[in-house]
Amino acid sequence: MVTRVARAYGDPERDERVMREAGEIITGGGLVAIPTETVYGLAGNALDPRASAKIYAAKGRPSDNPLIVHIARLEDMAYLVKDIPDNAYRLAESFWPGPLTMIMKKSDRVPYETTGGLDTVAVRFPSDPIAEEFILASGGYIAAPSANVSGRPSCTTAMHCIEDLSGRIDMIIDGGEVGIGLESTIVDLTGRIPCLLRPGYIGPEGLAKIIGELDIDPTVKGIASRDLKPKAPGMKYRHYAPRGELTLVKGSPDAVTDRINRMTEELEKKSRNVAVIASEENAAAYTCRDVYRIGGIGDEEGIAHRLFAVLRELDDRDTEYIFSECFDTPALGLAIMNRLIKAAGGRIIDLTEE
Ligand code: AMP
Ligand code: MG
Repeated sequence: MVTRVARAYGDPERDERVMREAGEIITGGGLVAIPTETVYGLAGNALDPRASAKIYAAKGRPSDNPLIVHIARLEDMAYLVKDIPDNAYRLAESFWPGPLTMIMKKSDRVPYETTGGLDTVAVRFPSDPIAEEFILASGGYIAAPSANVSGRPSCTTAMHCIEDLSGRIDMIIDGGEVGIGLESTIVDLTGRIPCLLRPGYIGPEGLAKIIGELDIDPTVKGIASRDLKPKAPGMKYRHYAPRGELTLVKGSPDAVTDRINRMTEELEKKSRNVAVIASEENAAAYTCRDVYRIGGIGDEEGIAHRLFAVLRELDDRDTEYIFSECFDTPALGLAIMNRLIKAAGGRIIDLTEE
């Protein structure tokens, strides 16, 4: 299959044509990668079981890992959901369109192929204008997981989508770099108390302000184990992972740079390909040849925005061992560390405990 790459910003006439063609691909049962404000998504018709099956195949995604359904009109939520809870309307009013996904009971119209066999459906109304136009041009109900091959870091540029999906899908819409760079916040509204399943740009405090009580799935802060299974099936897999071995080091800046220097020096002596992911503030203290400056500690949005691109760049350079500082920043630290801990497969050296 030849994958067409089409730019969809900067030229209104062409952009409209691209959108129309993309819509025709979706209504014809095909797949299109699209930009959203969080990360690029791999879109298909959410109401068409065959389209969902194609999404799983293109990504190599396990079939028990449900897809998020995207809408572009608030009133369309009622078509997908049975018994919409009041909290859904409250959250929608505050955060939609935007990077929030809500889990609710699914209506009979949503095929089990889209929900990974679950009786619940994940719904999101993205704010990116290209995504919004695309959804409307495509019939209104779009299943779209992140556009990466399963297990790899999510895509924040069209180039990342080309690397992962070229030849496997019909079209990639290039909308430039995404804004946020981390996937949406997921909140489960099916229990008595709403529960945060995946942290994102919208934090637990922001949610609790609107809905009051909020549980946090225990796996949000770490890695799942046999006894601790995340409620979002996708969060149990090793994820976002670079091909090299990533290790996180936690502690005071001096202790962290010291420990990382010792480890990288050892590996470089053996001629291994090693890199460090560092904050701007500490970058100069590393002796390693390859230091990736991910951003200033005070610029957490910048760190979130660059995280996946840095992990992909490390792959491009065939880095074998990667050491990263921990970025427990105030607002986005939970979401950033959730992705990093999964990318590291839970490998953390905690110097505060030594
Ligand atoms: P992605 O599409 O890559 O952003 O991943 C979507 C995430 O949403 C995965 O972790 C899924 O397991 C989760 N998800 C989607 N639908 C549901 C659902 N009905 N219940 C719980 N988690 C869901
Ligand atoms: Mg994903």
